[in-house]
Amino acid sequence: MNLLLIGPPGSGKGTQGERLAARLGLEHLAAGDLLRAEVANGTPLGRRVADIMQRGELVPDAVILGLLMPRVLTAVERDGYLLDGFPRSVEQANEARKLAEQGGAAPDAVIYLDAPRDVLVERILARAEKEGRSDDNPETVENRLRVFDDATAPLVAHYRERGLLHVVDAAQDQDAVTDQILELLGVEA
Ligand code: AMP
Repeated sequence: MNLLLIGPPGSGKGTQGERLAARLGLEHLAAGDLLRAEVANGTPLGRRVADIMQRGELVPDAVILGLLMPRVLTAVERDGYLLDGFPRSVEQANEARKLAEQGGAAPDAVIYLDAPRDVLVERILARAEKEGRSDDNPETVENRLRVFDDATAPLVAHYRERGLLHVVDAAQDQDAVTDQILELLGVEA
């Protein structure tokens, strides 16, 4: 099975992505985690994207596609992938679609984690204290939410039209969100 998990910052993509991938035996590919690892390792790619991430902007499509697509194609050879945080724009979705169709790697379902803005902001600021992510500060968070509204939210209509979309209330507690996703996928919790 191949799944996409999309949602605004703070909607729980990372947590749900980890749980679902473990439960379903899928390769968890978290776009932000892969980018943060490049930054932490000081690779040329990491140096190129560090400031962009710090501002909460999207890194160039070619960078993220180059990082993810080989991993996606490898995961498809196994039991499938769970992509969290990608795509983040209709352009990325279209590019990925072209590549995925060549490699038999199209998604089977897209899960949209939806939550009200005040819940998102509260969660991100709580996470900032625990995890110390440098882009979890108030200004960058505001920009990340704006980037979500402008670039990523249009994906909801895009995937609804393709008949792939499932909307999940991500303001529920973590276990309820996981259960609801497993149920809509027809998997026992
Ligand atoms: P995340 O961990 O998903 O919140 O992502 C952290 C940051 O990584 C984002 O604010 C972007 O700067 C960058 N990023 C993650 N995924 C993508 C993507 N699909 N396209 C472009 N930039 C991304």
